[in-house]
Amino acid sequence: MLPGVAVDAATCDEYVLRIRAAIAARARCHVVTANPEYAMRCRRDATLREIVARAEIVTADGAGLVAAARLLDRGNLSRVTGNDLVAALAAAGVPLFLLGAAPGIAENAAAALTARYPQAVIAGTWAGDASAAGDCEARRRINATAAQAILVAYGMPKQDHWIARNLPHLDATAAIGVGGVFDYLAGQVPRAPQWMRARGLEWFYRLVRQPSRWRRIVTVWQFAALVCATAIGQRIHHRRDTAHNV
Ligand code: UDP
Repeated sequence: MLPGVAVDAATCDEYVLRIRAAIAARARCHVVTANPEYAMRCRRDATLREIVARAEIVTADGAGLVAAARLLDRGNLSRVTGNDLVAALAAAGVPLFLLGAAPGIAENAAAALTARYPQAVIAGTWAGDASAAGDCEARRRINATAAQAILVAYGMPKQDHWIARNLPHLDATAAIGVGGVFDYLAGQVPRAPQWMRARGLEWFYRLVRQPSRWRRIVTVWQFAALVCATAIGQRIHHRRDTAHNV
């Protein structure tokens, strides 16, 4: 358990196997792609905390969670982003419904996926509405398709609230909160260059490109401060215990 959130340690391939097994068994599979913002939000928002705790899969989407696990001796987490999962599911030919983002973006994202992955199966797309007012229409549209996994792009925490409310009413049993993935696929927001991603600097790139995200970056730094304080506390305890046992 990291501060605020318990994250799974599997790889992208393993998650895809688990999602496909859940689809085959018609078992519920809510996938949360977590980052430090989720962790901080879960600490103060009991409803989100409960939704994330009930999720069948919680991936470490943010580099900050991977670094935190290392610093706190909670093992080596693989970073698995919403982008990674969407690409792998498309390549595996799982029928996908793209829900969310601004009007027209899901359609462009679907076109980008089919251009990149010839095996991709797009069952449907719809911008819809993240609030409960849009639930009936979304369920009707999704259930009219043969979608097996719903990609929900309403950002955190709306996408997870949407999944918690609607997954029990869908024929599809798997749903993944994918944040800004459709914007990336549709070319609305460029992804950070590989060298920045490899160094965990995607947050900095996004801040420069979208300065309005500064509030979210502050949350990431609050998480970093919390992790450092927890690590120092752990080390002090460890030293005391070692001294005590001598
Ligand atoms: N979004 C939406 N409706 C909302 C809030 C957000 O469709 O009420 C979409 C937004 O257009 C974007 C996506 O949710 O495509 C994710 O947004 P954000 O960048 O906040 O997500 P992150 O990747 O940072 O979690």
